[in-house]
Amino acid sequence: MARSTTGFLDEAEGLVLTNLAERAAQANFGPLVEIGAYLGRSTLFLAGGIAGSDTVLFSVDHHRGSEEMQPGWPHHEPSLVDPVTNKMDSLTRWRHAVGLAGVEHNVIAIVGESSLIAKYWQTPLGLVFIDGGHGKSIAWGDYLGWAPKLAQNAVLVIHDVFPSPSDGGRPPYEIYAHALRSGVFYEDESMACGSLRVLIKGNASQLDR
Ligand code: MG
Repeated sequence: MARSTTGFLDEAEGLVLTNLAERAAQANFGPLVEIGAYLGRSTLFLAGGIAGSDTVLFSVDHHRGSEEMQPGWPHHEPSLVDPVTNKMDSLTRWRHAVGLAGVEHNVIAIVGESSLIAKYWQTPLGLVFIDGGHGKSIAWGDYLGWAPKLAQNAVLVIHDVFPSPSDGGRPPYEIYAHALRSGVFYEDESMACGSLRVLIKGNASQLDR
């Protein structure tokens, strides 16, 4: 079902998420959080890795669409405009995907602004997947809000990391580069896929393989 769900994640990238979610569930550092859910494609790839475990994925999205999904922008989908509010609303279709995939036991939606939710979040996390808006303040808000919530040795995954500016917007790359420079994270380069980058919270000497 993940494969057939509309979204901006390559299948190969999605399967990396499944793999990482499965590992996070086994490591049992804490629940998973994804920022940016849209219609549930990444949600289902992540859920595929934790289904059958007691691990939970909190799926954070205001479901009003990011900047490039608004009317007049390239990724706008007119069928997602709610006629009552006249605003984008991807929550209904997200719920369809999660319900039809049978993963409601492991997946909880949190509908609202990511950085505001982060402000009140206290539980240490086993995995954070940042795939929200690409604007500077949004991407940095997601990183600064959620990266500190990761447990030691837990995984920070960032989508749309483009080292070359000609391939895409800068903020996801900038937060990735900042995370590495900070010394708080090191990269597991073996898991890099497409524009997905995988960082581990801790010291590279702890890499046991
Ligand atoms: Mg993305």
